[in-house]
Amino acid sequence: MDYRHEARKYLKRAENELGTFDDDRLKYVVLELRMAMEALTYDRAQAFKDEFPPSEYETWQPRKVMTILLDIDPTADCDATYSIGREKEYGVRPEKMESLGTEKILNMETIRKHYDALGSYLHVPTLKQVRSNKAHDYNKIRLRCEEIATAVKHVLSSPIFNVTLGSFASLPCMECGKPMRKRMPHGKNEVPAQCYECGASYVIIDKGNRQVEWKPLQHEIPCGNNSCDHKIVIWHHELEAGKSWTCPACNGRNTFCLGVRHEAELQD
Ligand SMILES: [Zn+2]
Ligand SMILES: [Zn+2]
Repeated sequence: MDYRHEARKYLKRAENELGTFDDDRLKYVVLELRMAMEALTYDRAQAFKDEFPPSEYETWQPRKVMTILLDIDPTADCDATYSIGREKEYGVRPEKMESLGTEKILNMETIRKHYDALGSYLHVPTLKQVRSNKAHDYNKIRLRCEEIATAVKHVLSSPIFNVTLGSFASLPCMECGKPMRKRMPHGKNEVPAQCYECGASYVIIDKGNRQVEWKPLQHEIPCGNNSCDHKIVIWHHELEAGKSWTCPACNGRNTFCLGVRHEAELQD
């Protein structure tokens, strides 16, 4: 699927509808722009297809897709300018660099600011909203649509797109088996990672030589029964007051609790 091409079509239709200056047609502008935002986010996701296969997000909305992309690469929604040059000396930045252009990306801020708001325009105002004069303000909708159309146009006019650079770590989650991937930011030795499926958390440690270690964040918890020495291992995110388990050794029940222990005042 060429999402960029699709996004262009949505934008064109949105612009045509905006051009009619007919308030009753604004809902179509809203629809087209929402679809343009979706197409651009899926387009961005395709650049990460090795780490984030389309089958995983085919039913998701842009914000969720972008959240995962940002988790894989914190710079996934940043504009970037790329330049190349021949090094005269190995590892030394050349004096002459040739710019390849700047990539504009539909960033999380734009998605957050506009996507859900657009959705709200697609409903008939409730009676309460009408009574309190909070029905659709067409001028406001039009301004918002123009702002989004401009942002989408900028993204679509980038001379280069979907460049991703970086080194990765990937691993099936030890708890649920879902693939997890994480970019190792340049110059960082430790990166926290969390499985977005089950919540299991890890620390990825750079061991050098392109090797990383995924350290699960787990705790060993002894059974609360003093005459039992069984221990269970739990994930950090499972450590929560009220959670309980049956000890497989003594069959007793253990519950995490937050407590205050009181000792009465000493009387003499
Ligand atoms: Zn998991
Ligand atoms: Zn026990």
